[in-house]
Amino acid sequence: MTDTIFGKIIRREIPADIVYEDDLALAFKDVNPQAPTHILVIPKKPIPCLSESGQEDQALMGHLLMTVKKVAAQANLSNGYRVVINNGKDGGQSVDHLHLHILGDRAMNWPPG
Ligand code: AMP
Repeated sequence: MTDTIFGKIIRREIPADIVYEDDLALAFKDVNPQAPTHILVIPKKPIPCLSESGQEDQALMGHLLMTVKKVAAQANLSNGYRVVINNGKDGGQSVDHLHLHILGDRAMNWPPG
């Protein structure tokens, strides 16, 4: 089982600006925001990354996407937003606990860097 800084946030061992929580997921503001609104949605289950999720995680993965939708609505991102999952080294993942970035309140560029 992996433990990361996000595990410590789930267990309230370190502070975070938590904006949403339910039995399966937690959402909190990114400490180094890349947009005026930058929120991370994570599963409470310590899945290291998307590519290490299993078939048994199918419902949880759907729950995380629906949580993104709920949190984005709660943050009033009515002009749209971007959802990002960085996976592994080349994907730019720096914390080994699956997380979905919600970026909003500015227009995004394409392609991403
Ligand atoms: P990634 O590069 O996709 O792994 O994203 C990890 C994200 O976690 C980065 O955007 C960091 O700014 C963010 N982050 C790291 N530590 C914390 C923390 N203690 N509280 C909130 N966000 C964090």
